[in-house]
Amino acid sequence: MIDTRSAQGRLEQRAKTVTIADLVLFHGHACDGLIRGVWAMRALADFAFGDRPIDRSDLLVVSKNSPCLGDVAAYLTGGRARYGTHRLDDTLGVGFQIQILSTGECYEVREQPGFFPQQITDWEAALLGALDDELKRELLPVHETAQWDWVREALLPTSPAEHYHARRLEHLELPPALAQARRTDTINRLVQPPAEAHSAYDPDLSAASPNEPYDGRWRQRYQSGPAAGQP
Ligand SMILES: [Zn+2]
Repeated sequence: MIDTRSAQGRLEQRAKTVTIADLVLFHGHACDGLIRGVWAMRALADFAFGDRPIDRSDLLVVSKNSPCLGDVAAYLTGGRARYGTHRLDDTLGVGFQIQILSTGECYEVREQPGFFPQQITDWEAALLGALDDELKRELLPVHETAQWDWVREALLPTSPAEHYHARRLEHLELPPALAQARRTDTINRLVQPPAEAHSAYDPDLSAASPNEPYDGRWRQRYQSGPAAGQP
């Protein structure tokens, strides 16, 4: 995936690899919901982006308001509820919708109905209900075992696109934003690389050594402050 390179920076073209282990650390635990979300997002990204990295500075995502699926959505797309770029729709189930902000293109992915066992779904609801704690203490580990058995035996042997079906959407009716604010670290995403000046912390510098006279001119311009006249 790619992101901008600093707080006011342009897009960094070198891609990063994010693993399920990273996602587990962010989310707090490994769980069937997290892995189902990863399979869904993989199918969606393969369909929408092919070999191109996910650009986390250019996506809006819609997910169910589930702790697990919501974290997958935010982490892997860069969508954030506080900027209005992570929206919630509980009718989506295990699936996501995305909109590419710069082009308006929309895609969605949904889990094939019936792929996840109804019995586990029923227990998920029951274990959040008024069941007696004396029952829960014994049933929680049995439930956890059933979830991981399903992940290992039914999900992991399959490729994401087998049971998570992605498609292009002509139109996406967006759920309302929880909050709206300007996301400042993506404003300059499309600014071109410098022609003359260089950051002393730019890892690309090995290819082109800084041009001292020009660098000096731009450093002077910076030191005179933003209120000074245009260069
Ligand atoms: Zn979880």
